Parts: sequence; structure tokens; C-alpha cells
Amino acid sequence: MADLVIENLAKEYPTRAESLQVLRDISLSLSQGESAAITGPSGCGKSTLLYCVGTLDTPTSGTVTLDGENPFTLNDKALAHFRSENIGFVFQDHHLLPQLTVLENVLVPTLADGSSSPEQIQRAKMLIERVGLSQRIEHRSAELSGGERQRVAVARSLIHQPKLLLADEPTGNLDKTNAEAIGKLLLELQKEESSILIVVTHSQELAAIFQRQYTLDEGKLLDQNPVQPS
Ligand code: ADP
Ligand code: MG
Repeated sequence: MADLVIENLAKEYPTRAESLQVLRDISLSLSQGESAAITGPSGCGKSTLLYCVGTLDTPTSGTVTLDGENPFTLNDKALAHFRSENIGFVFQDHHLLPQLTVLENVLVPTLADGSSSPEQIQRAKMLIERVGLSQRIEHRSAELSGGERQRVAVARSLIHQPKLLLADEPTGNLDKTNAEAIGKLLLELQKEESSILIVVTHSQELAAIFQRQYTLDEGKLLDQNPVQPS
């Protein structure tokens, strides 16, 4: 079982006056196939938490393990490999390369290994179909609508079958209809792929569709879930 275990995670940023304590003593465990939403107002540390869990930033203290492996013990090269193999990201801004086609964009993460394998190209095509963009596969991403671009970003995040899928305000730039569609798509694909999904958002509406709900308040993670009967 792929498990994500976050224990006593804290993050401080040094500033000129005094250090800024953004995250305090955060602990959270999620099992394979589980999805969680973390809400909180702008500036409360949502992206910082997601980046620490996603190994794009380093916690000041605490540990993160995925399937028992602590990525922060790895050297830079091994860490980059771990991240690319195990973690998929969807950002608020899709971060697509405008001159590349939909297919090429979805395959970008595979280029770290040199070139895309036939299996990876097959998987990219399957994911593009799954997000409803088969008709756009040879279109450049610059020619797509905002909602379509975010669909491509979702497909790209899944190319390596990540154990952990992290989404930072994935619907923040979309209108209501597209926001709902992307939220639903993330949830469906996460279930199909049995990955662990964490979505951070300031939207209560989006948060409500995921299995578990948490809020970040003054750097602490508050569990909003009903107590499970034992
Ligand atoms: P959110 O995603 O919830 O809007 P962030 O995680 O981006 O919040 O930021 C949380 C706090 O940490 C903010 O007060 C922000 O100014 C601060 N912060 C974020 N990144 C840095 C950094 N690299 N250096 C110093 N402060 C930072
Ligand atoms: Mg943010």
C-alpha cells in the first residue's frame, strides 16, 4: 500500500526582522486511493505545505515519507528522480509549453530520461483521451482554452503513474463550469489510478468533493472530518 505519512512538519522562512513560522507541527497520513482537500485563505501556507510534501521545498523540521521512503535523505539527483517517478503536480497556472502540441506537453516529463518510450506515448494518448482532448492532440497548447489547458496539465501530471498527486489551486483560473469539471476529473482519475491526491484550494465548493477535508489555520492543520466510529 502506498502511504503518505507527514509527521511534525514545520516550515520557517528567515526574514530580516524575525523568522516567519508558516507551518507548525503538521501531521497527516493518507493511504493509497485517498483524496484530501486543504483549505485556507490566501497566504496561510497552502502552497508552502504542498511544496514541502512534494519535495520542491525542504521542511525546517519534521518528516515526510512515501511508501516508507524519506525523500529528504536523498542527494539532489536521487531526489529529482524520486520526485519525477512518484509525484505529479497540477498548478494554478497550467505551466504548459505554448509551442508544443498537447501530446508533446503530456510527454515532457518523460524527456528527462532522453526520449519517450512507445509505452509512454501510448499512455499519453490514453490520458489525453481520458481528459477528453483526443480531437486536440496535435494542437499547440497556445491554441487551447483555459479549461482545455488545465486538462492537459492533469494528463501530464499522471504520465509517470505517480503514487502522489498534488494540486495547488487547480481551478483558481477557471470559470465555475470548468472549475467543476477539472475538480471532478482530478477525483475520477485519482480513483482510477489509485494514487493519493492532495488538493489545496481556497474554494470550499471544490474541497467538498474530496474524501477528507482539512483547514490550515495559523500554520496548524485542523481536521474537519467527522470522528470515525471505532
Ligand atoms: P498560500 O498558498 O496559502 O496563499 P503560501 O504558502 O504561498 O500561502 O505563503 C505562506 C506565507 O509564507 C506567506 O506569508 C508568504 O508571504 C510566505 N512565504 C512564502 N514563500 C516564502 C519565501 N520563499 N520566503 C519568505 N516568505 C515566504
Ligand atoms: Mg498558494
